[in-house]
Amino acid sequence: MPWSLTIGKVAGTNIRIHFTFFLFLIWIWAVYYKQGGSAAAWQGVTFVALLFACVLLHEFGHIFVAKHFGVKAPDVTLWPFGGIANLDQIPEKPSEEFFIAIAGPLVNVAIAILLMLYLGGTTDAAALMQVDESKVGLVAKLAGANLFLAIFNMIPAFPMDGGRVLRALLALKFGFARATQLAASIGQGLAVALGVIGLFGNPMLVIIAIFVFLAASGEASHAQLRQIARGAIVADAMITKFETLGPQASVQDAMEALIRTTQKEFPIVDGAGRLRGVLTRDAMIRALKNQGPEAPVLDAMDADIPTVPARASLESAVKSFSEQGKSVLGVTDTAGRLVGMLTVENLGEMMMLRAAKPGARPRPSDFSGTPGPWGRA
Ligand SMILES: [Zn+2]
Repeated sequence: MPWSLTIGKVAGTNIRIHFTFFLFLIWIWAVYYKQGGSAAAWQGVTFVALLFACVLLHEFGHIFVAKHFGVKAPDVTLWPFGGIANLDQIPEKPSEEFFIAIAGPLVNVAIAILLMLYLGGTTDAAALMQVDESKVGLVAKLAGANLFLAIFNMIPAFPMDGGRVLRALLALKFGFARATQLAASIGQGLAVALGVIGLFGNPMLVIIAIFVFLAASGEASHAQLRQIARGAIVADAMITKFETLGPQASVQDAMEALIRTTQKEFPIVDGAGRLRGVLTRDAMIRALKNQGPEAPVLDAMDADIPTVPARASLESAVKSFSEQGKSVLGVTDTAGRLVGMLTVENLGEMMMLRAAKPGARPRPSDFSGTPGPWGRA
């Protein structure tokens, strides 16, 4: 992840801090400084830093349980709005997702209990008189914040942990895809309700509501895509009729190809049949404006296009779409020659066709017989 600083590694997981988090600390310092001078400023920053240490422990709650189920977590990043643990995959086995999701909030509950025990141990002791009052205040505030984190994260809507817990529970009865749809609908309904409540005086709630609403629909379409991609290979979905450009071609040649075809992306293929890059319509127009029609396509293309073998599972291709953030993938044969293209658009078309096929609707039993790491035993 760019713009983040790796501060350490725990059990194979890199801990990263996004640079906006440092800006956030400076901002907190400044806000408290204005209110109560430098003592208050450092106290404010200390509180936020401790709070984020708790957020990090929450993420490691997820990570350690995920590890237990064989899911790796290469990194976790702290942002001003919280922590994000990057898990390799989301287990489809409901019980595993349930335990991974609930582990985070449970960590916060545990921290809150420990902090309250610590406070309970000192409140009735005579030693309390000697204890720095601000320190007690800080611990109490931190305990409260941890309880808030646990409750907030258990809101039953994606991307909150509560949404995943809800899906896992629903999946026991309805199967993964249907459970995701149900959980997403419940989450969106809740987001609308939150938004309406927020309109009467809490703008922060409106922002959270919009965020939850969008995240819920994203999760639902992703799950549907995975369901449909299952069992198919890349060759089933790829485009095989398309025009390519040679490495010597100019932007002018590309413009002509753009006009005579309906394609929007043109693969640049060398003499050996290997994919050198892809020129999109937008990049073409940009190059035309900045460098003129004689510019070589090699300069204008995106050279960083991932390829997948034609025999690979469509599911793995869907995964690389979401990981790489590209709208197009090259498909190669065993010799590494380009034999097809896969775009988000034609994947969408395949989804529509498959969903329209009678009997294509996912049934709960579809999962119980699925072999592989996430098949329910
Ligand atoms: Zn969490």
